[in-house]
Amino acid sequence: VSLTATLDELIRDVPDYPSPGILFKDITPLLADHDAFTATVQALAEVGRDSAGTTVVDKVLGMEARGFILAAPVALALGAGFVPVRKAGKLPRETHAVSYALEYGEATLELHRDAVAPGERVLLVDDVLATGGTIAATRELVEKCGGTVAGVAVLMELAALPGREAVGALPVTALLTV
Ligand code: 5GP
Repeated sequence: VSLTATLDELIRDVPDYPSPGILFKDITPLLADHDAFTATVQALAEVGRDSAGTTVVDKVLGMEARGFILAAPVALALGAGFVPVRKAGKLPRETHAVSYALEYGEATLELHRDAVAPGERVLLVDDVLATGGTIAATRELVEKCGGTVAGVAVLMELAALPGREAVGALPVTALLTV
């Protein structure tokens, strides 16, 4: 069976969650399946390697909260460091912060100022690319640190939303487009 078919089967649609009219993609059945989770992490990690199989990133950044679950094993697979991008007020030391618009209201993401060193190349990993707001904000955080986003790897891209346009020129790899 292809990874796409496996992902399709193990990512469940939940209508009207977390609010009416939203079709939520629940990845927990995928995470609970060892073979599928392993294949997913390997496929995401490929995005951080060149064609010769050499790791080309220094850090892998995961966005709170589901991004953590995927980005940490990807970092280990690549031999790179893992860095959490957190919601406002959760990181204990000096941070950079970027606020961005949500459908209703605003969200703020933070990164420790020393989490990415100037000149470092990073890979962003998240479960879902929807509007692209999360990835675009994270890119700004990385650039405030003086780093470069070398790639973006997501499990799933929601094709109905303009996520790719929102993240600009960043190369985005999605294992599944729905
Ligand atoms: P964006 O910022 O691209 O609009 O939304 C992406 C963020 O929202 C990701 O961090 C992702 O975890 C979360 N998200 C948005 N929609 C869904 C969904 O249907 N399922 C899951 N699992 N996460 C979602």
